[in-house]
Amino acid sequence: MKTDVLIVGGGPSGAAASLFLTTQGIRTTIVEAERFPRYHIGESMTGMAGQVLRDFGLEAEMMRRQYPVKYGVNVYGHSKTGNWFVPVQGRDQEGKLFDLETWQVRRSGFDQLMLDTAVDRGANLVHGKATFPILQDGTVKGAKVQARDGGELTIESELTLDCSGQATWLANSGGVTGPKYLGAYDKQIAIFSQVRGAIREQGATRDQCKDNTLIFYQQKYHWAWSIPIDSEVVSVGVVVPSAYFQGKKESKRDFLLRELQELHPELARRLPVIELVEDVHVIPNYSYQVKNFCGKGFICLGDAHRFVDPIFSFGLSTALREAQFATPAMLSYLEGKGRDEANPFAAYQLFCEKGLDVLEDMLDTFWEHPFAFSVCVHDRYRELLTDVFAGRVYEHENQPSVAINDFRRLLGREGERERSYLSGDLYSIPIGSRYHPERAPLWELNSRVETQSAAVNA
Ligand SMILES: Cc1cc2nc3c(=O)[nH]c(=O)nc-3n(C[C@H](O)[C@H](O)[C@H](O)COP(=O)(O)OP(=O)(O)OC[C@H]3O[C@@H](n4cnc5c(N)ncnc54)[C@H](O)[C@@H]3O)c2cc1C
Repeated sequence: MKTDVLIVGGGPSGAAASLFLTTQGIRTTIVEAERFPRYHIGESMTGMAGQVLRDFGLEAEMMRRQYPVKYGVNVYGHSKTGNWFVPVQGRDQEGKLFDLETWQVRRSGFDQLMLDTAVDRGANLVHGKATFPILQDGTVKGAKVQARDGGELTIESELTLDCSGQATWLANSGGVTGPKYLGAYDKQIAIFSQVRGAIREQGATRDQCKDNTLIFYQQKYHWAWSIPIDSEVVSVGVVVPSAYFQGKKESKRDFLLRELQELHPELARRLPVIELVEDVHVIPNYSYQVKNFCGKGFICLGDAHRFVDPIFSFGLSTALREAQFATPAMLSYLEGKGRDEANPFAAYQLFCEKGLDVLEDMLDTFWEHPFAFSVCVHDRYRELLTDVFAGRVYEHENQPSVAINDFRRLLGREGERERSYLSGDLYSIPIGSRYHPERAPLWELNSRVETQSAAVNA
């Protein structure tokens, strides 16, 4: 079988990539290993993720399906000063912020909607699992596929997109991409399910809307979420260091039920009775980064190359926006441009890395300096951080903003530790990763950072 673009994985990044390409008259073939609808984690969208859906013309369908409308994220910390709200907002032509809404989705139905729409608009869907990439003179030219109904297929393509999510198909295929590094939030575990009957806010203002995302923070790397996915059911999950989970010696179900009651009083108050309506799922070690995730004949999109930390719901946003931003580069490659270059997608790759580094530096500041971070969100950099929460991290004319640059100073990412983007190798390994060659022992980094945090708090 031959196609212009082979897409491995029919989740949001794969379906979105197909939607962008078929609009341009490109033939796509999506290979999806699982039978849809299937459970998937990742239900809360940023403002920019919602905007991509509007661009696809899906707003009316999202409303018809009554997906909960999200107006912002409420964070509950240790005390009242640690509580804050970030609204979902867009930027108009003059650069002024305006109120925007986005959605919370039950992923089984949402992913099916995206995949069905991709097929309706021209994608060829193959039910099967991509096994090996086909390589010709160092260029990826398609894949071997184990069909769901038995037998092996060979799908030849001009361009192959790895949209396989945490399976990181190409990075695990050996030698096509650069190595996969564990990220700064490795050694954590997420345990989650869905409950019926949670108490929701009843207020009239945007910060009291019943369908906002709620984050409950107990201490560093120990937090929970509550995300409404329909009028009755709420997605709930707890994230903790893996060692803490193992130390409890509880089943994943018992662990989740107890943590939902003990982690934060504001969470317990909303769950007077816990009726689980979904299995309890676990994802450990979700934080990683693949180096050189684009190259001759291939691009990795979304989780297939990098996932930092789930706390502020950037996964779908990244998946959808990367598919959007990769489209011009893909069209140019399909027209035959840049094929002799070592990496025909080098500019796009750097563009993505810079955007994700903005996210990572914001997330690291939240974890390392929660108090300074809440001051910045409340007051000092309210508008600039509203942009990041909305997913506007690829807007390089505005990013890194002064807020992100201050965070970088606070984190000690300056001077030799700066994200230089010139040194080839260094930028693509997360500075927080224990595999980063420049990483200082934690005690040294922390002591440097504490001295600097006074400057930012002032
Ligand atoms: C604990 C946790 C909470 C999260 N919460 C949020 C949230 O609230 N909001 C948010 O936006 N994001 C969240 N995320 C992230 C979100 O789940 C992902 O970023 C998002 O699903 C990425 O989309 P994707 O299309 O790249 O990958 P996926 O959605 O994982 O889709 C990949 C698809 O590829 C298929 N596949 C894999 N291998 C193969 C193969 N070899 N052949 C064929 N098919 C294959 C899979 O079956 C799957 O359908 C969370 C993540 C975690 C870990």
